[in-house]
Amino acid sequence: MSQVVITLQNCGCENFKELRVAFGDLNNCQLKCPFCFTLKQRPLYKEISTLTNQNLDSVKIIRFTGGEPLLCQEQVDAILQELFKIQHHVDGNLDLIVIQTNAIAVKKLNFDVFRKITIPILFEVSFKGTNIKEYQYLTFKDCVTEKAAEKIMSGQVEGYRIISEKFSMQPNIGILARLGIFHSSVKEPSFKFIFPDTHKLMFNPDSWDDRISDILEEQNNLWGDIFEGKFVLEKLKTPADGSPVMGKRYKEIIELLKLSGLLVEEKSKLPNQFQQKYFYKRGNEIYWKAARAISSKIN
Ligand code: SF4
Repeated sequence: MSQVVITLQNCGCENFKELRVAFGDLNNCQLKCPFCFTLKQRPLYKEISTLTNQNLDSVKIIRFTGGEPLLCQEQVDAILQELFKIQHHVDGNLDLIVIQTNAIAVKKLNFDVFRKITIPILFEVSFKGTNIKEYQYLTFKDCVTEKAAEKIMSGQVEGYRIISEKFSMQPNIGILARLGIFHSSVKEPSFKFIFPDTHKLMFNPDSWDDRISDILEEQNNLWGDIFEGKFVLEKLKTPADGSPVMGKRYKEIIELLKLSGLLVEEKSKLPNQFQQKYFYKRGNEIYWKAARAISSKIN
């Protein structure tokens, strides 16, 4: 049976919560991203079937997250089984089911049954870079070959396209592409990702792979100006983002990234010409915005 870590956490709305359902640790993913939040974690696992034993009264969002939720058919079936139970029990409080995925295994899976789920669902496909060279550095701890990086990137693009083709006509299902790299504040960055060999900034729009540019264009057609026409970006929570203290886990990740030469930090705020112009900082409001957009399509 699928083992998960279930955490009830703040979703940013007063009196309401998000239920985070995390699948395992790094062993439970095809990739080993050096910035992965699950690195060396020793979580308390529960059976996924206990999800509906939780009190869902105050839950607005249920988010299935990494390791990788869509890793194999067994996990997909387990998620679906819980979603069928949940959709019979919720009484209108639940706004959105989020499935954060790298989409690599999607081509091998049968998940058409998601069409039978009537509650709003957001597939959030988390890309690992904007070009092959970034994939070389950001998908495994040690730099992978160009060929391996191309395989990972094309697997993600193919997975994104399959989800999009299957569900884009389904009013209760949305698909959101985002750049799943922890990064610093969009407005006042104090960290930046660089290539360890050239020290040049990553995510430079002049070097984006055409496939990434095409996906951003498709996303803008799907979501209009909800995300300001930018690529949604994961970020590090830093004092610059309004977090007075940085969590222990974030600190560990930052230290590991600095050691590997992928991240530089400055005490003063760094100007970063790419972030503000091309990236939309991901906070929980992306889910409220997506939920509102999906619900207006349903009604
Ligand atoms: S794809 Fe996601 S879950 Fe997998 S290693 Fe990378 S960050 Fe972690």
